[in-house]
Amino acid sequence: MIRLVLLGGPGSGKGTQADRMKERYRAVKISTGDLLREEIRRESELGRRAKQFMDKGELVPDDVMIGILDKMTQAFETRAQSYILDGFPRTLPQAQALLEMLKKQGVNLTTALLIDVPESELVRRLSSRWTCRNCSATAGYPDGKPDQAVCGQCGGELYQRDDDKKETILNRMKVYRKNTEPLIRFFEEKGLLTRVEGFGDPDSVAMRIHETLERTLKS
Ligand SMILES: [Zn+2]
Repeated sequence: MIRLVLLGGPGSGKGTQADRMKERYRAVKISTGDLLREEIRRESELGRRAKQFMDKGELVPDDVMIGILDKMTQAFETRAQSYILDGFPRTLPQAQALLEMLKKQGVNLTTALLIDVPESELVRRLSSRWTCRNCSATAGYPDGKPDQAVCGQCGGELYQRDDDKKETILNRMKVYRKNTEPLIRFFEEKGLLTRVEGFGDPDSVAMRIHETLERTLKS
């Protein structure tokens, strides 16, 4: 059984790799947003508490979040269901609370898996997208758009949306680094961090993740 925290920057291919792992390890991917919506829909006690904060436009406190996660993962333990946490923890207190929760359950985090891609490569990937002014089709030019390139669908003019511009992406990277670096250090200090090189196509990254996890599971 695998209990995994998945870390990686925007453009790291984290979502794709989470899907690959779901298949290979028959794991469930837990996103905290989905979890919250589910609890609220079921009108559970924790769901009602979460909703009170969300209705006011406030963040759901960590103890409520952990409460929901605890309930769900305990159910997974009873049927040895592997799971992957994507997008949680986001902060150091959440990371600490997560390890506390697992300790109380009497189990260990398998690892925090970081899909490691150099920032220059992330920026290159993310700023490669161009959009057609005419039909909104998108095209990727990771090595820069040739001057004469036009929309492959309709021949229209290509432009970069603000979200895809380099300045915007550099900003997103700054936010990512500020939030994630403390988490990386935290898991590293606990001996719980595994780095996997995220360069290359999704298949080679998936292979690297698999080999690394096999080693982690054996040790
Ligand atoms: Zn077009």
